[in-house]
Amino acid sequence: MTDEDRAARDLRESTPDMTRERARTERRDVDKERGEPLAGGAERGGPRALRSSARPLGEWSSRPRILVTNDDGVESRGLLALKQALEGMGEVTVVAPDTNQSAVGHQKTLMRPLRVRERILADGSLAYSVDGSPTDAVSLAFLGHFGHGFDLVAAGINYGANLGDDITYSGTVSAAMEAAINSCPAFAISQEYYAHPDFSLAGRVATTVARNILEHGLSPGELVNVNVPAVSPDEFDGVEVTRLGKRVYQDELVERQDPRGIPYFWIGGPPPSGLAVPGTDFHAVVNRRIAVTPIHLDLTGRRLLKRLKTWDWTLPDDPDG
Ligand code: MN
Repeated sequence: MTDEDRAARDLRESTPDMTRERARTERRDVDKERGEPLAGGAERGGPRALRSSARPLGEWSSRPRILVTNDDGVESRGLLALKQALEGMGEVTVVAPDTNQSAVGHQKTLMRPLRVRERILADGSLAYSVDGSPTDAVSLAFLGHFGHGFDLVAAGINYGANLGDDITYSGTVSAAMEAAINSCPAFAISQEYYAHPDFSLAGRVATTVARNILEHGLSPGELVNVNVPAVSPDEFDGVEVTRLGKRVYQDELVERQDPRGIPYFWIGGPPPSGLAVPGTDFHAVVNRRIAVTPIHLDLTGRRLLKRLKTWDWTLPDDPDG
């Protein structure tokens, strides 16, 4: 079966049907159980209200504190674009990995020291770099490195989309997850790859996403994942709130020989594709729309949970007993 055949089959199999519709209804019920609506947390109070401070930006008594990070490294133009997009809205602190940490996922450095350095960004502003992962950068901030907390964490603008299954690899999304673990609202923003990325559209999107999160708040465990299509600012077709789609990876194992004749392996191949199912982040981006996807840290498989309860969990007899 060729790659084309496989993609065509996957597309056929992905056609929405009633089973899928039922599954979605089930998910909606679960969502009701699991989380509260985004807005209005302050009135309800209690542990579910993550940000009692969520309110219109004009009503903040001081400017919100915003932490900006990424996984492409402190020298990335996407990081600078995100910082510049948000600095009109709050007090921005930039701390990012000193090298490209793409696809490190949620890696946390525990077995060696971390070094933090002051850096000057291309616009002359002060930033900090850390010789670790995006999660390390966010951890430093929430463990008191700057002497204060934050109202929002923004990660990106990543060079390349983070759609569907990508978020399990993504250092960008993991940085936002680390913020959510620390009870701080967060979003990740990624620019679909193209030869000469123009981050101006993504920067405007970041401003809108940040304003919405600051004004409405997020509940515990929630974050927002944003993907911007590779189109010029006058070609995009609006914003769509989506669910995670399904990536189709086309990785190939490339075997070569090092100068000493010893084989080594490299994960290569063309960039990933995906299943263009309506309602998903992948479908939105291929149709020139900005995909805004809510993410929850509760990865519990609800349907599997029900099935597991029906399995036989008896242990084998103790051979020493
Ligand atoms: Mn990256």
